[in-house]
Amino acid sequence: MIPASFDYEVAESVEHALALLGADPDAKVLAGGHSLVPALKLRVSRPSKLVDIGRLSDLAYVRDAGSQLAIGALTRHAAVQGDPLLQEHCPIVSSTAGKVGDPQVRHRGTIGGSLAHGDPASDLPAVILALDAELVIVGAGGERTVAAADFFTGVFQTAVGPGELLTEIRIPKLGDATGWSYLKYHRRAQDWATVGVAAIVHRDNGTATSASVALTNMGGTTLRAASVEAAVAAGSSPAEAAAHAAEGAEPASDTAASAEFRAHLARVLTERALMEALA
Ligand SMILES: Cc1cc2nc3c(=O)[nH]c(=O)nc-3n(C[C@H](O)[C@H](O)[C@H](O)COP(=O)(O)OP(=O)(O)OC[C@H]3O[C@@H](n4cnc5c(N)ncnc54)[C@H](O)[C@@H]3O)c2cc1C
Repeated sequence: MIPASFDYEVAESVEHALALLGADPDAKVLAGGHSLVPALKLRVSRPSKLVDIGRLSDLAYVRDAGSQLAIGALTRHAAVQGDPLLQEHCPIVSSTAGKVGDPQVRHRGTIGGSLAHGDPASDLPAVILALDAELVIVGAGGERTVAAADFFTGVFQTAVGPGELLTEIRIPKLGDATGWSYLKYHRRAQDWATVGVAAIVHRDNGTATSASVALTNMGGTTLRAASVEAAVAAGSSPAEAAAHAAEGAEPASDTAASAEFRAHLARVLTERALMEALA
């Protein structure tokens, strides 16, 4: 389909983008365009104006920030995948970026767009949630930092409000005692996850002492598998803990899978992810 008509402005700085967004409550940010342009073509999104932030190169970076790494919102998936700092200190993020779509998608799509889009089927939100990352949002009122647990608020909804920009994602560096895994089941290569599981496991002599587990496409937002985490903390094996993976989740039934199959996938993938993180 052909999109509804819209105005188009190129932002020259973060301040310019905020001014353009503030001047028009129906304007939308355009980053890599790999989620927004399909939505425009389907006319499920009909903004009055697109504010293109794609040339704001000062929002594309990965920096060492002490105990954390800071990732600029405009960092493209391919750059996240290949970044040496991420590969050394938080490889679950670079590895998962390499599982997003195909090379074309990864060279245009951005980490900020993937998170701000709020799609429960996207891969990186589960990783960001399992890592207890922090997200920096700027708007006319200044800058605020939002915990990942408070960022994903509904289907295609996040804490980024009208007139605001997501500018940075802060993730912890993982130490040697921390294992990780992101597994996704998809029907076709290079596709969104039917279900995905992110696991961050703190281990001692091959045994998990605690785990953070988040699920992709098991509800309206990415969500923490709290019952799995409690079971791991209580000393359950990966198989015993993974049996709780679908508790509290509300997976959809659609053309890709029934809710029952998604619940089954969550249990199977959670056990495998915990095992992989412990290895
Ligand atoms: C064929 C195909 C396959 C794909 N496969 C996968 C997959 O396997 N896994 C996966 O996770 N994703 C997949 N995607 C989605 C891809 O990762 C997108 O690039 C990503 O979801 C959106 O990033 P973007 O930079 O393209 O954002 P855009 O499409 O430009 O924007 C998306 C939304 O976020 C908003 N936005 C963007 N940046 C900001 C910001 N900095 N601050 C505030 N709001 C912002 C926009 O206004 C818009 O509402 C696929 C896409 C395609 C086309």
